[in-house]
Amino acid sequence: MTTSSPALQPVIVGAGPAGVRAAEALVAHGLRPVVIDEASRAGGQIYRRPPASMAERSAQALYGFEARRANAVHAAFDSMQGRIDYRPNSLVWNAQGGRLDVLHGPTRSTASVPYSQLVVATGATDRVLPVPGWTLPGVYTLGGAQVALKFQGCAIGERVVLMGTGPLLYLVAYQYAKAGAKVAAVLDTARLADQLAATPAMLRQPAVFAKGVYYVGWLRAHGVALHSGVRPLRVLGDDQESRVTGVAWHDGREERTLACDAVGFGYALRSETQLADLLGCRFDFAPLHRAHLPVRDAAGRSSVQGVYLAGDGAGIMGADAAEWAGERAALALLADRGVAVDASRAAALERKLHKLSAFRHGLERAFPVPNDWAAHAPDELVVCRCENITAGTLRQSVGENGADEMNRLKALSRVGMGRCQGRMCGVAAAEILAHATGLPLQQVGRLRGQAPIKPIPIQLAVREPAEGVGA
Ligand SMILES: Cc1cc2nc3c(=O)[nH]c(=O)nc-3n(C[C@H](O)[C@H](O)[C@H](O)COP(=O)(O)OP(=O)(O)OC[C@H]3O[C@@H](n4cnc5c(N)ncnc54)[C@H](O)[C@@H]3O)c2cc1C
Repeated sequence: MTTSSPALQPVIVGAGPAGVRAAEALVAHGLRPVVIDEASRAGGQIYRRPPASMAERSAQALYGFEARRANAVHAAFDSMQGRIDYRPNSLVWNAQGGRLDVLHGPTRSTASVPYSQLVVATGATDRVLPVPGWTLPGVYTLGGAQVALKFQGCAIGERVVLMGTGPLLYLVAYQYAKAGAKVAAVLDTARLADQLAATPAMLRQPAVFAKGVYYVGWLRAHGVALHSGVRPLRVLGDDQESRVTGVAWHDGREERTLACDAVGFGYALRSETQLADLLGCRFDFAPLHRAHLPVRDAAGRSSVQGVYLAGDGAGIMGADAAEWAGERAALALLADRGVAVDASRAAALERKLHKLSAFRHGLERAFPVPNDWAAHAPDELVVCRCENITAGTLRQSVGENGADEMNRLKALSRVGMGRCQGRMCGVAAAEILAHATGLPLQQVGRLRGQAPIKPIPIQLAVREPAEGVGA
């Protein structure tokens, strides 16, 4: 293990829009932050860059309407070369006692990175509410389907169905169809009425709203079947259950099926909060996000001194907000270090972030999480695929053992104890638990973060048992 030296330089985890803008603000004030990201190139999710070894694709082809912003974020990052301590391919898998445990993927070397000030900008992943058949080869999350396209330049199948809800649903459908893939259908659990009711709030960000309308119009014009107000029933497989052959859903009147060889699904996004949890940040339930989130003030200060939260990792607000929040958190960090910062810039960033919240409420109204999902989840549905735990087992833990809180449910059933540490199944398990107990979602709590927050090689766990590796 190596121990990094620049203890007094701030550390940023995440080189997405939030992390890049945070780094930029710190560099502008004469600091040389350490920037750690598990990805091989900076840009985060939305502005993900393909591997340098792949044939160059234009920003327009990769990012569409977001090409200008993507270029700006990439250029900001590239301009900092030599002025930041950038560590790509580096996963922060643990945090304790003022140090981060980092695994450098390609070499499997490890480092313990000390910090006195830390910006956590770890972004988000898909919110997964499974459907029977979701473990079949050929089923991806919407985000995963997009990563395949953006990063590897390939589609998840030849005839793809995209389902769930959220803005990513239509965006991924558009990106797939535009790239030449066959999108057999888009199945949205939200109703048209939801989207119409949300229009006034969505018009607070007219440009973003217009993009959404354009994607839907484009898909219609190009013959992609769009169904709203659906209830996904199952992903169909062949006799050997070795591949996807179709999907079945209920359209409000009857059951329908459609042939396809791949499915992308998801219900908007969930924040990656494990690191904030290991760092001891206080969490509260945020009804808008239907999740427990680390608490932060308007500037991004968490409840733990020296720890700042920015971007989607502390609540899903989108890429523009991530840039503003990253810069704002860096200004707070600088001020706390005694560095003079432009107070008017800080106030302007807070105003922009505040203004976005009405739009964010609109999005939630337009694409609500189906609140009857748990009621319809059959007992045999696999909720936790790492440990193969079904909805029925979870209900049994409630009925026979009185589980009424997520960590108790985990101890009794092993849900969330596998490789993903609940990052994939935690949302669905909480929905099942709330429904089975009749308790509100906020009352069933959340799975506590545990190291390693993402899978690491077993040799590392064996070599360093004192580092807190465990389920
Ligand atoms: C799969 C996916 C696809 C998306 N596509 C779009 C889109 O097309 N259009 C759109 O408007 N919005 C999209 N979004 C939302 C958008 O990406 C976010 O709003 C925006 O990127 C948030 O920026 P961020 O900096 O907060 O986080 P991100 O951009 O997610 O950046 C977080 C960074 O942190 C790194 N990281 C996380 N955990 C660790 C760790 N433990 N150790 C080291 N590094 C870590 C990640 O590798 C990542 O680079 C997508 C989100 C997801 C999850």
